Amino acid sequence: MKVTLSNTARKLCIIGDPVLHSKSPLLQNAMCQALGLDYIYLCQTVSPAGLPAFLDAAKTLGYAGFNATMPLKTALLPYLDSLDPLAEKIGAVNTVCIKNGKLYGYNTDSPGFLAALREAGIEPAGRRVLLLGAGGAATAVAVGLLDAGVAHLTVANRTPARAQHIATLAPARTSAVSLDPRALAREAAEAELLVNATSLGMGGQGEFEDLSFLEALPQGTPVSDLIYHPAQTKLLARAKALGHPTMNGLPLLMHQAILALERFADVSISPRQVTPLLEELLKGEA
Ligand code: NAP
Repeated sequence: MKVTLSNTARKLCIIGDPVLHSKSPLLQNAMCQALGLDYIYLCQTVSPAGLPAFLDAAKTLGYAGFNATMPLKTALLPYLDSLDPLAEKIGAVNTVCIKNGKLYGYNTDSPGFLAALREAGIEPAGRRVLLLGAGGAATAVAVGLLDAGVAHLTVANRTPARAQHIATLAPARTSAVSLDPRALAREAAEAELLVNATSLGMGGQGEFEDLSFLEALPQGTPVSDLIYHPAQTKLLARAKALGHPTMNGLPLLMHQAILALERFADVSISPRQVTPLLEELLKGEA
């Protein structure tokens, strides 16, 4: 993609390690161009040990802010001057604004997931949800779903302690189970929304050994997978074959980016203004 650069452009970037595969520069530069926002968005490899030097440099060079990916979403917390209450509840930031040399942290994964669901016509309020995974993305999804008023959230994870930690967020409406196929089938039978937030199914990250629990889902239960590479995981393919509506991770990727740009540029962006452009850019990327 060709980026037009002005001398007054304010600087943004994504940091992480590894980060060079990130689609954020592509999406953010395209949105800035389309919306007439005078920003340039770069990509910078930063490890946790390199954070203090990066933060000093970003302030000195007048960066307006940055996004953070693995392994920095929690490593950044001690350096922030202010933490948004939602990000505090999740325990992770993916968006940091720099104003007058101070760092303001936010999490746009959580509202981004809700926006993606609602755009697909899925209102989470009142539903029983089965969430697979209890890592960073799963925690953001869980907090969003609980705040949106789900009736019950079951968190299934390989490491039980992590699922139990999420369950402490709203003990009356949350339970934790193992990833055992029989436990999953029992929970799936009552689910009104299934979300995969494990890395199982992503290229090179392993696969679910047994997807038979999907057969227990009531007919028409939506199935969401946060993974977008590949565009259709085995879990989504099986769910689709069983007749369930499915959603991959691209809508989340787009919505968390839109919400981050709103924070950086202090503007309001209608997703309808930019999603056709972003979808076009991501075509063939997954
Ligand atoms: P994370 O914090 O490392 O969590 C990984 C999760 O996957 C944990 O629940 C982990 O279980 C589970 N897992 C990993 N390997 C497993 C295995 N072999 N068997 C069973 N469970 C396993 O990662 P994350 O940041 O939450 O990301 C999770 C997924 O979401 C990734 O695929 C990522 O690409 C995707 N994601 C997508 C977007 C988007 O914009 N669409 C945004 C964020 C994340 P344990 O707790 O037992 O280790």
